[in-house]
Amino acid sequence: MRVITKIHEMQTEMKKLKSQSKSIGFVPTMGFLHEGHLTLIKKARQDNDVVVLSIFVNPLQFGPTEDFSTYPRDFSRDKSLAECKGVDILFYPSAEEMYPQPTSVKIIVQERTDVLCGKSRPGHFDGVAAVLTKLFNIVMPTRAYFGKKDAQQVAVVEGLISDFNFPIELIPVDIVREEDGLAKSSRNVNLLPEERVQATALYHSLIAAKAEIDKGVRNPNTIKTLVTNMIASETKGEIDYVEVYSYPQLKTVETLSGTIIIALAVKFSKVRLIDNFIIEVEA
Ligand code: AMP
Repeated sequence: MRVITKIHEMQTEMKKLKSQSKSIGFVPTMGFLHEGHLTLIKKARQDNDVVVLSIFVNPLQFGPTEDFSTYPRDFSRDKSLAECKGVDILFYPSAEEMYPQPTSVKIIVQERTDVLCGKSRPGHFDGVAAVLTKLFNIVMPTRAYFGKKDAQQVAVVEGLISDFNFPIELIPVDIVREEDGLAKSSRNVNLLPEERVQATALYHSLIAAKAEIDKGVRNPNTIKTLVTNMIASETKGEIDYVEVYSYPQLKTVETLSGTIIIALAVKFSKVRLIDNFIIEVEA
């Protein structure tokens, strides 16, 4: 596995691989790798000749009061894991390399950001779109792999790829969970022990919501109330949002039918966790 930290070197290498007609699978991450990331890498490995993993904690996608400085980092562990899982190139740029000066062009994501994390984290998806535009132009992948844990991100990236004609196939990958159901996240290490126990309620509330839908409930408010009450009674976390929307449009629905998302975000003392179920509902 090669570790590359410079953009120019990365582009030279990628051009060489492309001239040899190699397919390139790209997994962009912020590091502190877990089973969720490794599943994306595994898929990329299955589908492509070359696998590129990037590790970059992107300052542009964090708000001023968010956890940029406490976001967990462990490059040497990540490097061994990546090598073990068959990554060919690990792109690990510094913030100075990625943003030597403020960009003269700003990308503003206009659609699907007035809800969920876009609403709670103003500017977050603009930062995501900016870094991905750069990374897509640096890596020039055939396919890019994104986890459905960040379902709104998948929807936004779909828009970015299609609006700006990136010749890239987006591959969404199912959420990977701990044995007790908690969605794997680099941020889970920043939960206090009692919060880690309580956090399983996020998954249990989604299971309970799905069970009600399976029983025939079609009113989105009934589902929102159920999820909200379960999280409020089983955790000390502060609920940021519990929402039910059509997916991937992220529009309010009067009644549940077609593809819908039940999405939630809960703030614990040091971390904010997100989770969702995307469900096909018969009318
Ligand atoms: P991050 O390092 O948190 O920016 O995540 C990098 C990629 O891994 C994103 O596409 C995430 O959606 C994906 N990812 C993170 N956690 C999970 C998970 N538990 N299951 C599946 N994909 C995940």
